[in-house]
Amino acid sequence: MRTPAAFEASGKKPRDASKFALRFWAIRHSRGMERLYDRVEKILIGLAPLMRKIGWERLEAPVALVEKAVKSTLFDCKMCGQCTLSSTGMSCPMNCPKGLRNGPCGGVRQDGHCEVYAEMPCVWVKAWEGSRAMAEGETIRNVQTPIDHRLKGRSSWLAVARDKSDEGARP
Ligand code: SF4
Repeated sequence: MRTPAAFEASGKKPRDASKFALRFWAIRHSRGMERLYDRVEKILIGLAPLMRKIGWERLEAPVALVEKAVKSTLFDCKMCGQCTLSSTGMSCPMNCPKGLRNGPCGGVRQDGHCEVYAEMPCVWVKAWEGSRAMAEGETIRNVQTPIDHRLKGRSSWLAVARDKSDEGARP
């Protein structure tokens, strides 16, 4: 019996596969990325008192600009403002065309590619692969809260610095 063809949306432009290359490199090096991020996070937390003095809101735009430049290059980041990379094997869930943040949909193809963009491996298949190399990889099993679209464009780095230091609690 002939296998039915997978769903293909009409008029959809294929994604440029060269754009995935760096993103997949980062996932293949997820352990190194995790170590690097741990260091960056410690620095950010250490700088929190200074950043509070300068003013979190005053720092928002310049820090978000730098964060966007770094993370869009490495992870194809969409600046959702609530970064989950360390819990998703360094695979940004916002690259899922359905924006799923708690695992794949039921449409992953047999070759592990996306239902919507057949030329793109599923973001969550890659997330699982990346998580297997990470020290904290099991956090991929944690349930992510629904995304807050009001935070779009804001810096996750600043949010982490503020929340993980005692600065977040101060007026
Ligand atoms: S989870 Fe959000 S902040 Fe993190 S890389 Fe993806 S879009 Fe950017």
